[in-house]
Amino acid sequence: MLRLIRELIRPYRGTLIVILFAMLVESLMGLAAPWPVKVILDNVVANHHLPKFLDKLLASHAALSLGHGKLEIAALAGVAVVLIAVIGSFASYIDNYFTESVGQRVAHDLRMRTYEHLQRLSLSYYDVHRTGALLSTITSDIQTIESFASSSTLGIVVDLVTIIEMLGLMFWLNWDFALIAMGITPFLLYFMSRFRGAVKTATRSVRLRQADIVTVVQEGLESVRVVKAFGQENLEQEKLGQVSLATVNAALKARQVKALLAPIVNVTVALCTAVVLWRGASLILRGTMTAGALVVFLAYLTKFFKPLQDLAKMTNTMAQAAVGVERVQAILDADMIIPEHSEAQEPLPIRGEIVFEHVAFGYDKEDLILRDVNFRIEPGQLIGIVGPTGGGKSTVVSLIARFYDPTSGAVTLDGVDIRRYKLRSLRDQIGFVLQDTVLFQGTIRENIAYGRPHATQQEIEDAAKMANANEFIERMPNGYETLVGERGLALSGGQRQRIGIARAIVRNSPILILDEPTAALDTESERLVIEALERLMKGRTVITIAHRLSTIRDADSIIVLKGGVVAEQGTHQELLNRKGIYSDLYMIQLAPAAGISTRTDPVITNLNKAEAALY
Ligand code: ATP
Ligand code: MG
Repeated sequence: MLRLIRELIRPYRGTLIVILFAMLVESLMGLAAPWPVKVILDNVVANHHLPKFLDKLLASHAALSLGHGKLEIAALAGVAVVLIAVIGSFASYIDNYFTESVGQRVAHDLRMRTYEHLQRLSLSYYDVHRTGALLSTITSDIQTIESFASSSTLGIVVDLVTIIEMLGLMFWLNWDFALIAMGITPFLLYFMSRFRGAVKTATRSVRLRQADIVTVVQEGLESVRVVKAFGQENLEQEKLGQVSLATVNAALKARQVKALLAPIVNVTVALCTAVVLWRGASLILRGTMTAGALVVFLAYLTKFFKPLQDLAKMTNTMAQAAVGVERVQAILDADMIIPEHSEAQEPLPIRGEIVFEHVAFGYDKEDLILRDVNFRIEPGQLIGIVGPTGGGKSTVVSLIARFYDPTSGAVTLDGVDIRRYKLRSLRDQIGFVLQDTVLFQGTIRENIAYGRPHATQQEIEDAAKMANANEFIERMPNGYETLVGERGLALSGGQRQRIGIARAIVRNSPILILDEPTAALDTESERLVIEALERLMKGRTVITIAHRLSTIRDADSIIVLKGGVVAEQGTHQELLNRKGIYSDLYMIQLAPAAGISTRTDPVITNLNKAEAALY
């Protein structure tokens, strides 16, 4: 944790020194502040002699016709008050400004670092961590670190310096008074350090609850359609109510602990002051101390405890910041990064031969989704993958892009284990049409060019035409410049899917993976998209996952996934002849359209058989 802080602060060492200097000046001016009053009380009002150094100082200015008269001394004291205030305020301005700037920059660096790390983490990290909590860390936790850094880090150092300086002066003024003040300090410090642990625990639980709030709201708003469709607004409200109340309780519990601290310090200070006042009064009456010295002493006493009070208050911000650092550190420490081979190579130029060799994989190591998957895809082939819902089709293709690594076995591309390629360049070889196309906030053009930001307008339009999307895009208010995504124009499922296809086409990669590209399309659009894909497929390896078998009828080979293994593989015709799972499925989907009479052909039986086979 300390290492992280040190690393973050390192670039700002220069500024920190300036801040430290300003703070020292500030603290010195704080020390000097009560002295003019002392001079007035003792040397103007009463008849004591000026301390020797001041006397000499004034004498040296005698040439400037500054006399030793009482009014001159009073005037000088007045000037000193202003000077002290001006210098102190200037130093405080410098301190405030630069501290804030360091705090903000450190927060910026930390945000960038955390987000960069989050981007690098593999999908398996996101399978177990909730977006809301991550969101909350990258915003609120970093915010608390920032406010701690801007408010108090160096303040602690200066406070300590001030305390030491003050102790020196107090001993010089009156040592037995100083002892009164000092005597209590160790107890206070002990008490405060005992408190720290309790405050930190309480703060941690508050932060956890606050992250829950973000998670609930984020999930609720993200799924607002579902919520409304099922009329579950109250349920969502209740969920928020629960976590929000939990936050309130945790915060109150934390407050219970924290709130004790300041009063205890305050009462202690009052007790000390009372003793000093009482004893001071008797010393003045006896004539062994001047009234001015008592004033300085009292001023210091409050000042002396102020850093302690600050430290007490700081316990709170410090605990919050420490918890913040803890949570950020947890993200930075997460090492669910798809490992890159030390001698990783560029897969260029690739032919597109993909082989699965005894691949087993489970999101949870105990529960294998793929048990022993074997198949070979020749370069330039069109491959269809079919199988029951949840059978692992999407999982198989995500292994090709190394979203996950197989538990055992290997996936090879052009005869080389894909783990030996540079991750980035491996993924550059693959275009994806995901099962659910997500649009980013931005224009249609930006969304299509997402996988290749420098694509020309011509390339984008060609891709849109191929994806059969050009027509509806041109009908939009601003054509390709229409804003979509959040707060932009909403698109229908089929339109989104066609944008997704165009996005993959623009990428122009040698391997194309389509996860049910036509699921949200009507039959006519589906036909057009398939035609487009057929044009696109030339010279590429294409893997299409399909529920609707019409999409893949012309595939070079069809893989039927079931029970974690490849149950059948072959061309459409071969699989039909086999009369297995595929042919049963085909009968259900296509038999009537193919003109087979339902009376002579037992479709009903087939349907049952296929259902039984698949689900
Ligand atoms: P569909 O036809 O419905 O798209 P699929 O064949 O693509 O299904 P997969 O998405 O590969 O199926 O999922 C296979 C299994 O893995 C399912 O049982 C699912 O519950 C599980 N699964 C999928 N994604 C994850 C994940 N990120 N974490 C844990 N389990 C997952
Ligand atoms: Mg799927």
